[in-house]
Amino acid sequence: MAQHATAAIETEGLIKDYGSIRALDGLNLRVEPGEIFGFLGPNGAGKSTTIRLLLDFIRPTAGHARILGQDCQHHPEQVRAQTGYLPGDLRLYDNLRGREHVALLAGLRGRRPDAAYLRRLTEALDLDLERQAGALSKGNRQKLGVLLALMARPPVLILDEPTSGLDPIVQHTVWRLLREEAERGVTVFFSSHVISEVEHTCSRVGILRAGKLVAVEPVAALLGRALHRLEVTFAAPPPPSAFALPGVRELRREHATVWLETAGGIDATLKAVAGFPVVDLRTEQPSLEDVLLTYYRQEAAV
Ligand code: ATP
Repeated sequence: MAQHATAAIETEGLIKDYGSIRALDGLNLRVEPGEIFGFLGPNGAGKSTTIRLLLDFIRPTAGHARILGQDCQHHPEQVRAQTGYLPGDLRLYDNLRGREHVALLAGLRGRRPDAAYLRRLTEALDLDLERQAGALSKGNRQKLGVLLALMARPPVLILDEPTSGLDPIVQHTVWRLLREEAERGVTVFFSSHVISEVEHTCSRVGILRAGKLVAVEPVAALLGRALHRLEVTFAAPPPPSAFALPGVRELRREHATVWLETAGGIDATLKAVAGFPVVDLRTEQPSLEDVLLTYYRQEAAV
């Protein structure tokens, strides 16, 4: 990833304590302009805390955060003017229609959204802006939240779990909309605790655990490292030592079906499997827990 002179988002030694709980423990992060950056971590890792610090809804115990070179704590108005934000705990005015939310936020920004883009978002998300927010389903409320974050076309989008509660088709629509914005140079920073959200969208992923950044890497590297599980049914039982390869563990076998777990990439295992006539093959997508496990193992091995 090419480094620009000014990062889109940058944090330095960011620490946040809630009483005796250290929610963020010295976060150093740099997101380049035009990147789609996935901020991944299990519940309680500190993702929302980071996002709230970036928007200056809370203050850090120590450290700094900047968006497009502006200090988030010293210049919060400028930072917010450059940022579209979707909170994790979206709150809407139940008695206001979608269109009234649009007008309200446009008023706060002092600028009407581009009518053609607003129409494009409304159509892509299949959203009825005439309905009151209180009458919307959970998924439709989330869609309205996404529209409100994107509509002003700001240079930075900060989205806390943007596709949570959306069905798979709408999730793909949201990812497409985000990719389109990134192609225009917009920086997208979003949090998630599911791998599938980041694999379709992100250029790089940062993994947060217990307030610390465990890794930052391209999404392909992350998936390549994760443990994969394969269930393969062969035409006949393969020899007992067929899969005694580095990084591969045979978990179980029943007649001609073998369950394999592979670490560090799936390629060598697939080639070994292909040495015998295969009848059926199933893979499980690695979960975030599987990915985190590979990092725990690495740390334990050091
Ligand atoms: P989730 O995926 O569940 O939203 P998260 O990664 O966004 O998790 P945070 O909400 O940032 O995590 O929480 C990080 C830690 O800080 C957790 O231990 C949480 O309990 C704690 N925490 C967050 N907000 C507060 C608060 N207002 N007061 C006290 N502790 C808090």
